[in-house]
Amino acid sequence: MNAPFKPTEKKLVTLIPGDGVGPECVRAAQRIIDATGAAIAWEERPAGASVFRQGIASGVPPGTIASILKTRVVLKGPLETPVGFGEKSANVTLRKLFETYANIRPVRELPGVLTPYSGRGIDLVVVRENVEDLYAGIEHMQTPSVAQCLKLISAKGCEKVVRLAFELAVAEGRRRVHCATKSNIMKLTEGLMKRTFERVSQEYPGIESQHILVDNCAHQLVKRPEQFDVIVTTNMNGDILSDLTSALVGGLGFAPSANIGSEVAIFEAVHGSAPKYAGKDVINPTAVIQSAVMMLRHLGELDAAVTIEHALLSTLEEGKVRTGDVVGYDKGASTTAFTEAILSNIGRRAERHRVRSYRPIRLPKVDPTPDTVRPKERRVVGMDIFVESGLSAEALGQSLEGLAAGTPFRLKMISNRGTKVYPTTGAITDCVDHWRCRFVALDDQADVPDSALLGLLQRVAAHHGWMHLEKLQEFDQATGFTRAQGED
Ligand code: NAP
Repeated sequence: MNAPFKPTEKKLVTLIPGDGVGPECVRAAQRIIDATGAAIAWEERPAGASVFRQGIASGVPPGTIASILKTRVVLKGPLETPVGFGEKSANVTLRKLFETYANIRPVRELPGVLTPYSGRGIDLVVVRENVEDLYAGIEHMQTPSVAQCLKLISAKGCEKVVRLAFELAVAEGRRRVHCATKSNIMKLTEGLMKRTFERVSQEYPGIESQHILVDNCAHQLVKRPEQFDVIVTTNMNGDILSDLTSALVGGLGFAPSANIGSEVAIFEAVHGSAPKYAGKDVINPTAVIQSAVMMLRHLGELDAAVTIEHALLSTLEEGKVRTGDVVGYDKGASTTAFTEAILSNIGRRAERHRVRSYRPIRLPKVDPTPDTVRPKERRVVGMDIFVESGLSAEALGQSLEGLAAGTPFRLKMISNRGTKVYPTTGAITDCVDHWRCRFVALDDQADVPDSALLGLLQRVAAHHGWMHLEKLQEFDQATGFTRAQGED
C-alpha cells in the first residue's frame, strides 16, 4: 500500500463508531485515511445506543465529552435515536454541547451513479443552522390534548450561519448563495433569518444572493437543481432539503456533512444507522468517506484529502466495484470489497471528474457575550394569557371581559390555534381546549409594569386554568408579536 506522505506531528481525532451500519462505514474511512499516511491519530470513544443502555440519558458519556474537548475534531458514525418519550437524541446532544452551529452538506454528481439528473452537473451545498429552531427541543403538553414545540431563532444564530455560508462560498469559489425560509408565514422567526441574510449579503458584493421560499426551493431543487450553488437555511428546513438533495445524486450513501462550531467540528454522514443493513457488510461507506475528506481539509491535511477524493472518483469511474444502493443489493459489492477497491486506487487520479480546489473557510468571529442586539427602547403593551377551558369562545370571552373590567387592560381578542374566534368573525373554526387570550393596555402609550400584568393574571387564574404567558412587547417601536388570523 502506498504511503505517500511523511507524517509530521499527528493530529488527534475522536472516533465514534456509532450504531447500526456506523462501525462498518467508519472503519472503512479510517482504513483509507491511514493508508494515505495522513498525520492522524485516533482516540476511539462510544456514544449512542450502547451508552443509553448503560442508563446515561444523554447518550454521550463524560469520557467521550472529555476526548472531544481535547481533540476538537470528531469523525463519527450515525447514532440511533430512541423513539418516544425519555432520552434525547445523542446526535443533537453532541451538536448542542459543542455549539456546532452550522451543518455543511455538500452533494455532487458522481461518476457511475446514475440518477434521473445525471449529466446536469449538480454540485451544491446546503448550509443548515444546526442548534436552534424546533430542534431546541423545548416541548410542552399545554393541555392534555394540545402539544407545543417552541421554534427559537436568534439573531446571533442566524448571523453565524449566514456568514459561514458566504465564507464557504468564498473558500470554494462559488458564485451564488440562496437563503431558503418560510418567512411569508413565520415573519418573526423565519423572517429573522431572511433579514439577517439580506443584511450580511451586502458585505459580499462579489457573490450573487437571493432569498427563496423554502417550499419553492424544494420544487426548484427537483425541477432545476443545477441553478443552486449554496443554500443557507434554518434547522428544520435544512434537515428536509438536505435529504432531498442527497437523493438528487444517488441517495444517502453519497451525502457527507460537517458540523462546524467555533471550537469543535464533527464530521459524519447525513444518513442514520440504517438498522436493516447493520452487520451485513452491504452498506455504502461513501458518505462517511466523503465526510472524512471534509475532516482532512479542516485539519489542513489537503494532500490526503485530494488523494482520497481521486481514489474514490477513480473507483466510481471504473465502475467495476459498486455497492448495492447503486446496482441493487442482489448484485452489489460488499462494503469491504468497495473499500478495498478505493484502497487499491490510492495514488490514481480521476480521469473525467475534477476535484474542486479548496481554501480554508474563514470561520466567523463569534462575540462571546450572550446578546448581540440591544434596543434603545422597549415597551410592554399587553399580555397573551393561554387558558385551558371547555367553555365556548363566546362564554370565555364574556367571562374574561368581565375580569378585565377595572384593570388597565381590555380583552382584545381570543384565538384558537392561531385563528381569531372572539369577538366572532364568522369563521368556521374547529376549536380545542387551548385558547390564547390577548389583553392590551387601555392606554396605548403605556409601558405596562409587571405588577399590572400579575394583577390581571391573578384575576384570570381565579376563574380559569392558565398554562402559559407571553408579554406583548415593542422593541424600538417595532411590534414584537404577530397578529392572529383574522385579528385587526
Ligand atoms: P437512515 O438510517 O438514514 O436510513 C434510511 C434509508 O436510507 C435506508 O433504509 C437506506 O435506504 C438509505 N441509506 C441510509 N444509509 C445508507 C448508506 N450508507 N448507503 C445506502 N443507503 C443508505 O434513516 P432512518 O432509518 O430513518 O433512521 C435510523 C436511525 O438512525 C434512527 O434511530 C435515527 O434517529 C438515526 N439517525 C441518525 C443520524 C445521525 O447519527 N446523524 C441521522 C439520521 C438518522 P433503502 O431502504 O432504500 O435501501
